[in-house]
Amino acid sequence: MRILVQKFGGTSVDGRDCMLKVREKVLVGLNQGYKIIVVLSAMHGVTSNLIKMASSWAKEPDRAEMDVLLSTGEQQAVALFTMLLKEKGIKSRSCLGHQLPIRTDPTFGSARILDIDKKAITDLLKRYDVLVVAGFQGCDCTQRITTLGRGGSDTSAVALAAVTQAELCEIYTDVEGVYTTDPNICSKAQKISMIDYEEMLEMASMGAKVLQIRSVEFAKKYNVPVLVRSTFSNEPGTLVTKEKNSMEAAMVSGIAYDKDQARITLVGVKDEPGVSAKIFEPIASANIVVDMIVQNPSKNERTDLTFTVPRGSVKDTLKILGKIKDDIGAQDIFHDDNVCKISVIGVGMRTHAGIASIAFATLQKENVNILMISTSEIKISCLVKEKYTELAIRSLHEAFGLDKDVSKACESPLA
Ligand code: ASP
Ligand code: MG
Repeated sequence: MRILVQKFGGTSVDGRDCMLKVREKVLVGLNQGYKIIVVLSAMHGVTSNLIKMASSWAKEPDRAEMDVLLSTGEQQAVALFTMLLKEKGIKSRSCLGHQLPIRTDPTFGSARILDIDKKAITDLLKRYDVLVVAGFQGCDCTQRITTLGRGGSDTSAVALAAVTQAELCEIYTDVEGVYTTDPNICSKAQKISMIDYEEMLEMASMGAKVLQIRSVEFAKKYNVPVLVRSTFSNEPGTLVTKEKNSMEAAMVSGIAYDKDQARITLVGVKDEPGVSAKIFEPIASANIVVDMIVQNPSKNERTDLTFTVPRGSVKDTLKILGKIKDDIGAQDIFHDDNVCKISVIGVGMRTHAGIASIAFATLQKENVNILMISTSEIKISCLVKEKYTELAIRSLHEAFGLDKDVSKACESPLA
């Protein structure tokens, strides 16, 4: 049995006309001889409206009941879409998460998928040509309904593709694929034809919001090829797959950015064992995610320590630091909200030297000061003043040859 998973997001199922376009995509798959698992999101705006409704109903809506409520968005979409399939005589039925079942842990609002009954699905696929599955939802071991977090239908689709060993998981959306950077900032952004899972994780975690991060982690773990493409065109889209030979890979695949950053500096804390632990333990216990960290010992057994947190966490972080300030011997604490992290991403960095120096020279040419730097095997991130975001992105995009057709990016600028 050849299986294809096709997932359609909220803007693709936004009313009957859109769903007719979705039906055409499903027909294409059927004509190619596939059995199809269609995964749908709720219609555009429905989930957000349900969240608003709940918060006007109760101050702190019960988390479990919240999931019962939110899952109704997808329930509507699958029922209506299956009606359209049946109108064409297609052997199909809708399936809710708990009917399959898609088993999750009981973390209401951000549950993780634990298991999907493969046999139940393949049995259904023997009887039906198309299964229309409600994305974003599952159930825990006591049959309570759970949801997977915003954008969770992507993860439902990839998980279903993984257990059924589908040939491909198509993610249909309202953009034509993954771009080298945000096209709203850089008009020269190019669509990427193929991207590695790890690169995609970096792009997704930094604002390239095409796929839920968890879905990419899942795809990487189970080696599911994911094709991101548009419901409203016939363009080929972007294939997210495992690393190409990094010698052949473009040095840089994309430039991502994250404006949700704030920088906090502790001046002159004691330079002795245990100080970092004293600082970051209470921050972690408060569930605050620390991103970049730089420590720079100065004179007299003192060190400056700078790190970044999401902007919404600055107040809480400062409160925590206020409590431990004397203990760690901090002479002063500064913070700055007007910063942005720009990241140059590419698996090709593993085998090409000199990428960081090109990035730094490019920013220097534009007179952009770098406030912090962090690197990994496939990423160089620079924190800059927020007002330089556009300038930094555009100049790096050009410097790494991304303004041109991406398939040729590996030729410049070291070549
Ligand atoms: N309907 C859910 C949301 O809006 C899940 C999804 O669309 O993937 O977040
Ligand atoms: Mg989405």
